[in-house]
Amino acid sequence: LSTTPVLPGADPSKLVITTTTTPKELTPNNELVFGKTFTDHMLSIEWTASDGWLTPRIIPYQNLSLDPATCVFHYAFECFEGMKAYKDKNGKIRLFRPSKNMQRLNKSSSRIALPTIDGDAFTKLIAEFTKIESRFIPNEKGYSLYLRPTMIGTQRTIGVGPPGSALLYVIASPVGPYYPTGFKAVSLEATDYAVRAWPGGVGDKKLGANYAPCIVPQQEAASRGFQQNLWLFGEEEYVTEVGTMNLFMAIKNKETGQKELLTAPLDGTILEGVTRDSVLSLARERLVPEGWAVSERKVRMSELAEASAEGRLIEVFGSGTAAIVSPVRNISYKGQLVDCGLQGHEEAGDIALRMKNWIEGIQYGEEEHEWSYVV
Ligand code: PMP
Repeated sequence: LSTTPVLPGADPSKLVITTTTTPKELTPNNELVFGKTFTDHMLSIEWTASDGWLTPRIIPYQNLSLDPATCVFHYAFECFEGMKAYKDKNGKIRLFRPSKNMQRLNKSSSRIALPTIDGDAFTKLIAEFTKIESRFIPNEKGYSLYLRPTMIGTQRTIGVGPPGSALLYVIASPVGPYYPTGFKAVSLEATDYAVRAWPGGVGDKKLGANYAPCIVPQQEAASRGFQQNLWLFGEEEYVTEVGTMNLFMAIKNKETGQKELLTAPLDGTILEGVTRDSVLSLARERLVPEGWAVSERKVRMSELAEASAEGRLIEVFGSGTAAIVSPVRNISYKGQLVDCGLQGHEEAGDIALRMKNWIEGIQYGEEEHEWSYVV
């Protein structure tokens, strides 16, 4: 499935732009709420099985008009991406590792019989779109424009089969810093009565259908006072991921005392986070020389609980586009609270703090890095 050819088309040089006649008022920075307000326009590209990708268009933000029989409403032919555009101190717009999002989008879409797209061409189109929406990107560190590429099957049929037509669109929402007043460590509930994904399933794809079933366990955790739930897998209760983040654990080895930064391997049961990959790369480049080991391996929840009980759990944090890193204070597991190593009123561990600074530095162009795509 991963060898599905990437379809050409969606030529950026053919982009047709229709600007809005009713520009929106900007929301003041301090009132921005994630995913609530959207920009003036959307990028929209139709695909048909017979003609491939059609003319890319930037059009005023508007409702879609779809027949009630459209296949997306019945069989969940939908996948999406989450990425951000940042404005650096010189006012230049930057994307962060967009090729990673393109690869993941194509993996997701091809798994549900939707078309793939040329990642470089689509990135250029997204770049054009961010230029048009430039006034919505606050010129302040921590702020960004969240971009939501979305692909849906649009064929009008309730027959179950591969969609003969699709729509790829991108909407954008200005967002403020995830932690406006500094880090706030979260408490997690380990979920052992439901699973998010399984080997051979689609948990490593960014399908809308993976998200709706996660809300009830999330609500359950919230009803007991936990901000997120942590997904365990199998009889071994392997730690997989949390809410919409991958999970990192820093543990001191029982026998050798070696400090190790751990995360679950890409075995098909976790989303291949762009932030996860970035944290791993930076850890290998910058923490290994300090004596850290970095591993992608399965970790049992019991191993984590044991490390905590023995004072060997150094820190735990989630990683994702929204927050970059999200420090974890404790995890509820089998009626006990597993302490994740934060001291007293501390809200973040040392690695989480440094990772946030390193990644943010690259995103905002303070550190020149090949991961930053200047629009
Ligand atoms: N896991 C899940 C289930 C997610 O939805 C996300 C957010 N895309 C992540 C992990 C983190 O991925 P990324 O670092 O690419 O945002």
